[in-house]
Amino acid sequence: MPTTKVLSSTSPVRVESNDGAYRLVASRKVAAGATILRIDGIVQSYPSRYSVQVGPDEHIERPSTITAEEEERLYQWRFLNHSCAPNAALVGRDLRALRPIGRGEEITFDYLTNEFDMASPFRCGCGSPECVGEVRGFRHATRSLRRMLAPRAAPHVLELAKRHRLA
Ligand SMILES: [Zn+2]
Repeated sequence: MPTTKVLSSTSPVRVESNDGAYRLVASRKVAAGATILRIDGIVQSYPSRYSVQVGPDEHIERPSTITAEEEERLYQWRFLNHSCAPNAALVGRDLRALRPIGRGEEITFDYLTNEFDMASPFRCGCGSPECVGEVRGFRHATRSLRRMLAPRAAPHVLELAKRHRLA
């Protein structure tokens, strides 16, 4: 059975776990365009497994000394899963709803729109018709996929693509 934890009465999200797999779920309805959470933590210059890239050389990571309880309460973003057909997107450090999100719905974003070169690539199993398969970062996407992603990609990703002369 899945276990759920309510993080705080004001938070629109909760962490759910099922057999060791975590996901972030809306604990109430979220309007399109609403800010769901903010990516806060330690800034480091390199990507790691759960870090989120917010600038060309800026990756947000959790402090290494936190407890599991603190992680679920303060660093909810670490439990966000990738989807190739996401319902949320990062604007700077704010995670915003791309469309209305129903209570109980999993919240996802497209890692390829903010991660340039990921530390822990994986095979996506999102099941959407748009699924790209291997998720390694914008840098490793095919040219046609990069073109599709470009309108939604974060400014730092496009800046890095330019620096690496990716057409
Ligand atoms: Zn996918």
